[in-house]
Amino acid sequence: MNSIKIHDLTFEIKITSTEIQQAVSEVATKINTDLKGKKPLFLAVLNGSFMFASDLLKKVTIDCEISFVKVASYEGTSSTGEIKGLIGMNEDIKGRTVVIVEDIVDTGNTVENVWNELKTKGAADVKIATLLFKPLAYTKTLPIDYIAIKVPNDFLVGYGLDYNGLGRNLADIYVKSN
Ligand code: 5GP
Ligand code: MG
Repeated sequence: MNSIKIHDLTFEIKITSTEIQQAVSEVATKINTDLKGKKPLFLAVLNGSFMFASDLLKKVTIDCEISFVKVASYEGTSSTGEIKGLIGMNEDIKGRTVVIVEDIVDTGNTVENVWNELKTKGAADVKIATLLFKPLAYTKTLPIDYIAIKVPNDFLVGYGLDYNGLGRNLADIYVKSN
C-alpha cells in the first residue's frame, strides 16, 4: 500500500525500507572505519531513533556500547524549538567517544543541545549520526558527521518517526500529501 491515513492526514511512501537499509549500511561502514579502537558509546535519542539505532548497531561490528536517552517532545507537524533537557544519562562519559544517534536533524536545536550537554559532561569527542537530515531547515554550524539520507523540508513519518503518536512502527518512510 503506497498511501496511508494517520489521524486526519494522508501520507505517501517516500523512502522504502530497502533504501533505508542500504543507507544505514553505508553509515555503519563509515563508523566501523572511523571509530575502530575508540570503543564508542552510542547514545540513541528516544523515541524516534529506536529503529535506526537497532538497525545501525546490528551493522556496527567494532567494540561499542549503547545506551538510551530522552529529550524534548514534538507535537504536530512543526518543531517548537523547545528543548526539555536530557533524561536517563547515567553513564560516566568523561574522556569517551560518544555518538549521538538521532532519527532526524531538522533545525538542529535538539542535537546541538544534546551535543553541548555531552561535552559539558566531559566527553572527549561527540559525533552525530542521524538517519535523516533536512539541510534546508538546519540553522546550526555543528557538523553532522554521519547522515544516512538527506531530505527536503517535508513532514515525514515511519521508521521511528511519528505523527502525534502514530506511525513509528512503519518499516518505510512516508511523506505528508499536499
Ligand atoms: P530539531 O530540534 O532538529 O528542529 O528537530 C528534531 C526533532 O524534530 C526530531 O527528533 C523529531 O522529533 C522532530 N522532527 C523534525 N522533522 C520531523 C519530521 O519530518 N517528522 C517527524 N515525525 N518529526 C520531525
Ligand atoms: Mg529525534
